[in-house]
Amino acid sequence: MTDADVVIIGGGHNGLVAASYLARAGRSVVVLEARGQLGGAVAGERTFPGVDARLSRFSYLVSLLPDKIISDLDLDLELRSRTVGSYTPVGDHGLLVERPEGDATRASFAEITGNEREYGAWQRFHADLERFASVVAPTLTEPLPQVGEIRRRVGDELMDALTARPIGDLVTDRFAHDVVRGTVLTDALIGTEADVHDQSLVQNRCFVYHVIGRGTGEWRVPVGGMGAVADALVGSASAAGAELITEVAVTELSREVDHWRAVTADGRSWQAPVVLANCARWTLDRLLGKATAKPAGNQIKINMVLQRLPTLRSGLDPKIAFAGTLHVHQSYRELRAAHQRAMSGQLPAPFPCEVYCHSLTDSSILGPELVKKGWHTLTLFGLHAPANLFDEPGRSIAVEWAVKASIKGFLAEPLYDCIATDANGDPCFELMTPLDIEAELGMPGGHIFHGDLSWPWRDDDQEAETPAERWGVATEHPGLLLCGSSSRRGGAVSGLGGHSAAMAVLDS
Ligand SMILES: Cc1cc2nc3c(=O)[nH]c(=O)nc-3n(C[C@H](O)[C@H](O)[C@H](O)COP(=O)(O)OP(=O)(O)OC[C@H]3O[C@@H](n4cnc5c(N)ncnc54)[C@H](O)[C@@H]3O)c2cc1C
Repeated sequence: MTDADVVIIGGGHNGLVAASYLARAGRSVVVLEARGQLGGAVAGERTFPGVDARLSRFSYLVSLLPDKIISDLDLDLELRSRTVGSYTPVGDHGLLVERPEGDATRASFAEITGNEREYGAWQRFHADLERFASVVAPTLTEPLPQVGEIRRRVGDELMDALTARPIGDLVTDRFAHDVVRGTVLTDALIGTEADVHDQSLVQNRCFVYHVIGRGTGEWRVPVGGMGAVADALVGSASAAGAELITEVAVTELSREVDHWRAVTADGRSWQAPVVLANCARWTLDRLLGKATAKPAGNQIKINMVLQRLPTLRSGLDPKIAFAGTLHVHQSYRELRAAHQRAMSGQLPAPFPCEVYCHSLTDSSILGPELVKKGWHTLTLFGLHAPANLFDEPGRSIAVEWAVKASIKGFLAEPLYDCIATDANGDPCFELMTPLDIEAELGMPGGHIFHGDLSWPWRDDDQEAETPAERWGVATEHPGLLLCGSSSRRGGAVSGLGGHSAAMAVLDS
């Protein structure tokens, strides 16, 4: 006697995607979520007491979530384009990339680099990336393609450039300017601690996922914040009949003849022939009693609410500068130096980070009073801050100082003068290190992808006999499938881990 056709460990967004697909197909599904809230890193929260701002507390932008999943699951979701791609302060000037790119972008490249060539190189590079993305993106909702097929369609030259040698080599070949190189290379380092020239190519894999979403690599703003994505998925899964149970941490998983038994911290247990692990692979191993190497995250995240946007030394309107991704100390040389410092056990100085204002594109996350007062949200994501630099979860004064020092150079006034205060008179400022992320979400080591990313395809000689192998969600155990960021194509806010796991179950 079992309790459900499928038990899902974890109610992150991938777990919810799987639950919704399977329940719609008539399977009985139980989702067991450790936290009091569903969605995992896809979450919207009123973080600061008395401040009516629903922040995307963890993840904040969406690129990899395919339209197919949105329409299959009837998700009531709007993803809005930003009007600015990025802005990178350079001395008293800055490199502006509009969306779509126009005359101001061309002029900005010419001003910063002193020539027309670099923008031409930028356009050619992005045309290449779009060609690559247009081949790979449609395969993401299909069984894993073989690498040979991708290579045949992309062409040897581009395939080798992106997947056979370090991305740092390609970018330094294509671009001459330190800032332009860095602006491109940050996509290789978000959630991945590596040098851009690392021979392991772990940074290339990270880069690939950052540029293939929807065949364009565009990162869009979820209207209503990430909480709206979680709400849409919870609504879809519940409407389909999935049972979503919160505050139940699975502590043990064992195989019993023809089914799995998941035991929870409160002593209850659930049995099912199929179990999907939305938790990290490392967590799953622990539930099975197996010790494996723990992943380590490398980022800090800061959530803020501001009474006004700070002015910039460059004089650019902050409504333009903060509307896209504002790169701070992310030039090629600075990124390399920051990695070296992190490897020697020190916080980067200056701290490479990127800053972005959600409420400029979508003010619906703020209550009407705050909109009227001109308040804004601000997100800061800092790189090269590996988990081993921190002793324990909790406020890290050293990081706070490092970030302050890093951002003050491009602002015409202290950011801290712009930060709003909450009902207790405390600044609306929340800083999370990888250890805080682990404590909040159970992501091992605070690794935002549950571990290093894999290529979104399989080798030509890699066997794929079972549906789980074909969809990249197999474990070595029958009836136990990966269903989250640890699955082959699962990293980031994509729903792909959940989609692949559900398809593998339905194909069996
Ligand atoms: C700070 C931060 C910023 C990010 N920014 C972006 C971004 O802007 N865009 C983007 O695409 N990606 C971003 N990411 C990455 C992205 O959010 C994650 O890769 C993705 O959301 C993971 O989804 P998931 O469903 O696979 O896992 P998770 O979101 O980790 O959900 C797993 C769930 O399983 C639960 N769980 C774990 N163990 C157990 C257990 N034993 N029993 C029961 N439940 C358990 C957890 O509580 C959690 O709810 C960011 C991540 C972080 C942390």
